[in-house]
Amino acid sequence: MFRLKSNSLCSRSLGKRGLADLSAAALQIARTKSPKKKLPKDQLDFGRTFIDHMLKINWNSTDGWQAPQIEAHGPLVLDPSAAVFHYAFECFEGLKAYRAVDGSLRLFRPDKNMARLNKSSTRIALPSFNGQELIKLIGELVKLDQDWIPEGQGYSLYLRPNMIGTEAALGVHKPSDAMLYVIASPVGPYYKTGFKAVRLEATDNVVRAWPGGVGDKKLGANYAPCIVPQAEAEKRGFQQNLWIFGPEKHITEVGTMNAFFVVKDKSTGKNELITAPLDGTILEGVTRDSILALARERLSSDEWIVSERYASILDIAEAAKEGRLVEAFGAGTAAIVSPIKYIEYHGQGIDIPLQEGKEAGKLTETILKWITDIQYGIEEHPWSVRIN
Ligand SMILES: *Cc1c(COP(=O)(O)O)cnc(C)c1O
Repeated sequence: MFRLKSNSLCSRSLGKRGLADLSAAALQIARTKSPKKKLPKDQLDFGRTFIDHMLKINWNSTDGWQAPQIEAHGPLVLDPSAAVFHYAFECFEGLKAYRAVDGSLRLFRPDKNMARLNKSSTRIALPSFNGQELIKLIGELVKLDQDWIPEGQGYSLYLRPNMIGTEAALGVHKPSDAMLYVIASPVGPYYKTGFKAVRLEATDNVVRAWPGGVGDKKLGANYAPCIVPQAEAEKRGFQQNLWIFGPEKHITEVGTMNAFFVVKDKSTGKNELITAPLDGTILEGVTRDSILALARERLSSDEWIVSERYASILDIAEAAKEGRLVEAFGAGTAAIVSPIKYIEYHGQGIDIPLQEGKEAGKLTETILKWITDIQYGIEEHPWSVRIN
């Protein structure tokens, strides 16, 4: 009795230094005994089919990160009192693994997703982890189930890392137990028959994110409350909400994507590519960041201005009236870019030009090619990270 007690006191006194960090070297793999039949690639439905295996890592406040496990994709067993079910201790990521044209397997800027997941998890009192180690572990999962990535450009493996608080207790406090897991779903091209431009309802009666809030974190708690407003917009014939914030009627994001507009500048006649600044209410999209970097590098500054600034829906409506609205699109991992053709704001319609006979603007099309060429290794670029 006495020995046990003094041991536990001793390990506790180690404090933070005694907590193990995430270690890919400790990975244990238990292959499934019943591999699943793969769907034909034309029947894939985003996020409904999963690969044979998943990655799972437990954490507790006494020992830190435990040995990572790759095991059959399957149900989790959690006590119904687990923190995740009561107080939304949950955050996630979305990234993809690609089979490049040279046959190698690649991730796109995974360090960005790791940094963002750490920001999300620590904001909700869940543990941080070594991102490079999780990238290695994700690499092992992808390599093990690489046969699940269909051949062909546009196909990829959508990876969903998720961290949850698992402590079985109803008290509202920092969870003493957590789980980090990664599941994966093979996906086909977002636009099977070319671009499909969307119609948006500009929404200012519901707020997605606010100053001092957590709209810049990928927390599950940010998403469920947006389904009802989206369903209501859908009833009126719109695919998504364009989220408008504040008395200035600033455009923030579109659905769960970052929003971009191209407006001809009145004084200079240049095209200005505009997206909202990272003020704490905007999700720091990896696609957003990639678009800004490529646009600054590749668009001629004689003809283009690239701006992270607020744009009001009122300014966009005025630009449209004056024939200065050039194009608009959403940006995110799933589609990369999603062209917008129409926005309605308080009954007022805003038409957005598309190229003749096409469902996208010229820059939207160019950006899709820039990014997919990097993702599939058609253009070699440091953002495309080999995992094998
Ligand atoms: C995930 C997400 C984005 C896009 O981020 P990417 O890293 O580009 O996929 C944008 N807005 C919201 C609200 C998101 O959840």
